Amino acid sequence: MLNRRQFLASSGAATGLIAAPPRRPNIIVILTDDQGYADVGFHGCRDIPTPHLDSLAHSGVRFTNGYVSHAFCSPTRAGLMTGRYQQRYGHENNPIYNPRDEVAGLPLEEVTLPQVLSQAGYATGLVGKWHLGAAPPLHPLRRGFREMYGFLGGGHDYFKTQMEGEAREYLIPIQRDGRPEPLTDYLTDALSREAVAFIRRHRADPFFLYLTYNAPHTPQQVTEKYLSRFTGIQDERRRNYAAMLSAVDDGVGQVLATLRELELDSETLVFYLSDNGGPTAVNGSRNDPLRGAKGAPFEGGIHVPFVARWPGRLPKGKVSHDPVISLDIFPTSVAAAGVKPPTGRRLDGVNLLPHLAGKAGAPPHGRLYWRQGGGTAFAIREGRYKLVKPADGAVQVYDLEADIGESRDLAAERPELRDRMLQAWEAWDRELIPPRFESPRPAPKKG
Ligand code: CA
Repeated sequence: MLNRRQFLASSGAATGLIAAPPRRPNIIVILTDDQGYADVGFHGCRDIPTPHLDSLAHSGVRFTNGYVSHAFCSPTRAGLMTGRYQQRYGHENNPIYNPRDEVAGLPLEEVTLPQVLSQAGYATGLVGKWHLGAAPPLHPLRRGFREMYGFLGGGHDYFKTQMEGEAREYLIPIQRDGRPEPLTDYLTDALSREAVAFIRRHRADPFFLYLTYNAPHTPQQVTEKYLSRFTGIQDERRRNYAAMLSAVDDGVGQVLATLRELELDSETLVFYLSDNGGPTAVNGSRNDPLRGAKGAPFEGGIHVPFVARWPGRLPKGKVSHDPVISLDIFPTSVAAAGVKPPTGRRLDGVNLLPHLAGKAGAPPHGRLYWRQGGGTAFAIREGRYKLVKPADGAVQVYDLEADIGESRDLAAERPELRDRMLQAWEAWDRELIPPRFESPRPAPKKG
């Protein structure tokens, strides 16, 4: 990034032309909750139109091998916020919702992306679901966000809150900057409304907006406005899911229209991804052609829709097949902002900008790793191959280029490949610590 003097010199200001200095880009991360790999138009979804998510993909880069660092909610969010494999600091489960529990959440020693950007002068806002701890020290306003509209737990009722007494997790009051507030709109619409308001408020600042829809996560609660679009879907669960996802897509459309109206398109880097694979049996999502669902180390648990868009800076309509991971959002964002990453800690994510500009000689990652339950389930991807150990099965090896559905186990016929990948995973595993807290109930059903 040029500083103002360099920019003026390069733009011809010395010859009398007047030009505004370039501003640091805004960064928006749009995260959906429990959306399946197959449930976007740009992955071939036919029964649920997603025109706005599609426009994002078609005007930016879509990653056909986009991963998250965990097969369920909170650990993925921890990794995204820190750029580090969350098992390095024991964040391997979903935190129980308990405002008195200061352990169940993102450890305070970790440095978050909004902390780094906030210190660099960015306006930082969370709109939506937090799920990284409910105790006061773990609150998003103490982890780098200057503004917040949303809720602290792992999900929320879409229509109501309980303003009096101690409410259970999904009924806690919505918070605006730490103060409880009743819910007056359908929650997904409220989040879209607040995202647009945040962008308008900060149109003149560099800003970081973390827009974390809890849709299409359960409970399956919909409004007639969205449900009426899907009368042709027979299966009730799928129909409800479609309506909830359509509300998200409308909201993304409002965000994109606002950027366009304010002429911020070329000054805004937007990421979009789902926080884990679809829990197909729970919310009617689809991950095909991938195997498995949320909660499992198979592709259906961790391989998600993933897009980056920055008009003028990233190629338009590019399709990248290199494996990338949600951990990459942190280093890519700080590089885009021209900010130094935090020192004294290892970042596992990679700055994707040189790769997307065609200026890197090698793929962003040699290997990607996953671990759940302290090691009861795990996986490693290396190039085209993946070794996976589900919680209830043996070590398996798949060639994802030839077999994205993980149907033909090569472990027996390629023992040297199996052993080499297993050793690589074990070497990574030795760098990790045990989980610092447990999920309040079996993880795959929650978060
Ligand atoms: Ca989730």
